[in-house]
Amino acid sequence: MEESLLSTPSGTRDLLPDEVARWQFVEKEARQLFARYSFREIRTPIFESTELFARGIGVDTDIVGKEMYTFLDQSGKSLTLRPENTAPVVRAYAQHAMYRGAGVTKLFYIGPMFRHEKKQKGRWRQFSQIGVEVLGSDHPAIEAEVIEMILYFLETLKIRCQLLVNSVGCNQCRPHYVDLLRHELSKQIPRLCEDCRRRMEANPLRVLDCKVESCQPVIDQLPTITDHLCEECRSHFDRFKGYLEALGIPYRIVPRLVRGLDYYVRTAFEIVSDELGSQNALVGGGRYDGLSEILGGPPAKGFGFAMGVDRLVMLLPEELSPRWTWKPDIFLAYLGEAAFDRAFAIARTLRHDGWSSHLEFDGGSLKSQLRLANRLQARHVLIIGEEELAKGKYQLKRLDDSRQWDFNLDELRDYLKSQAAQQ
Ligand code: AMP
Repeated sequence: MEESLLSTPSGTRDLLPDEVARWQFVEKEARQLFARYSFREIRTPIFESTELFARGIGVDTDIVGKEMYTFLDQSGKSLTLRPENTAPVVRAYAQHAMYRGAGVTKLFYIGPMFRHEKKQKGRWRQFSQIGVEVLGSDHPAIEAEVIEMILYFLETLKIRCQLLVNSVGCNQCRPHYVDLLRHELSKQIPRLCEDCRRRMEANPLRVLDCKVESCQPVIDQLPTITDHLCEECRSHFDRFKGYLEALGIPYRIVPRLVRGLDYYVRTAFEIVSDELGSQNALVGGGRYDGLSEILGGPPAKGFGFAMGVDRLVMLLPEELSPRWTWKPDIFLAYLGEAAFDRAFAIARTLRHDGWSSHLEFDGGSLKSQLRLANRLQARHVLIIGEEELAKGKYQLKRLDDSRQWDFNLDELRDYLKSQAAQQ
């Protein structure tokens, strides 16, 4: 059935002003905190070349295989709405030679991503992520610092969650493990679901991610990657855990945690919350040394995460949920057309002075305007009737204590300034 023109496309939604207030709060908190850890914001395009994602995420992944919004533009070029933002940030890092600066490059982004996923609670087709990327080093303390930052961020937002970590090895050790996995899986084919039989060939690591009930006993018996790491990966993992412990951060090792994307090496992690239900992942991230080279860029080590803002906002406790609490400092009520013209001009002056001022265009009777001023919880009402217009003096009424004054425009501006000084 055709979707109504008056409803959002499936899997998308409007954020109305009350909801936007909560989003702005979360985004402001993130911006302020990340700056303290010397992250700077980057904004990349909403769409990129399809090839960037195909190569950067991997053609065998669900995202590239079936979830991308891909289209041909007028010149026949294949473009894709970004399903994630690590590949675009790494592209920007290489394109603008950001590695030429001193030390590591620390970037964060906030913005919408697009995936044609099955509709489910906590899953949208347009959703927003706050993410960070640290480029230019593989020091395992980077992992610990970034994870500490997110956990602190979530703690300030009073969100309870758990940290899950793993190491997925590197190009040296993972191929051996993948062969072993494929070998073990080949003995269990009849017990595997349709998807896992396909994954077994193309990308056996993804079997570990399978949520199908009947596959679980098989997965539980499989060898774990943490038992098959090379010396360097084991040492990197041990040092990473050591830094977490030094910071007093509790974690759980989950050997099945491999994450959906091909480019991860060594550290993989997730932050989950029981309060989210079946889609319990709030944050996902990992190390992606080598991604830059895959995209044709210079060698660059990288580590980052993405956090789902839609899910985060769902978890925000009531006491930290700001509403759209706009209350005008001055409500201008007028009677007649000439008074409207004066009110229109005064509103501009007051707004330029820094006062939020409200004026109804089709104001109706004075009584109905005053009713509206009360409903909007305006602090003051300025009344401009015929008499006030003739005298150039307007009646200002303070609504909380009903005090009144007759002011010309300059007196009114002085009064408001003195009020601000007292606050
Ligand atoms: P990913 O890029 O898949 O690792 O996702 C990172 C985080 O983004 C997840 O932990 C979720 O919080 C969020 N996320 C991913 N996909 C969606 C979606 N379809 N709807 C809402 N949030 C999502």
